[in-house]
Amino acid sequence: MSQSVALPAVGTPEIPSIPLRELAPWALLFGLLALLVLFFVSADQGAISIPAGNAVHEFVHDGRHLLGYPCH
Ligand SMILES: [Zn+2]
Repeated sequence: MSQSVALPAVGTPEIPSIPLRELAPWALLFGLLALLVLFFVSADQGAISIPAGNAVHEFVHDGRHLLGYPCH
């Protein structure tokens, strides 16, 4: 017994392009979020954190040492 299987047509898939004008606000947003995360990991010592105290500092403490930022 033989069975035939229909294979899908093989072609080059079309890659959608995103115009820079639509991409720029998202790039700006995620760039600012990345800077915020970088600030918390690298420079925050608890003085200007919204949750007062060292909670954020302690949460990212291992990451800070892993990346080589001076801490203590
Ligand atoms: Zn430390």
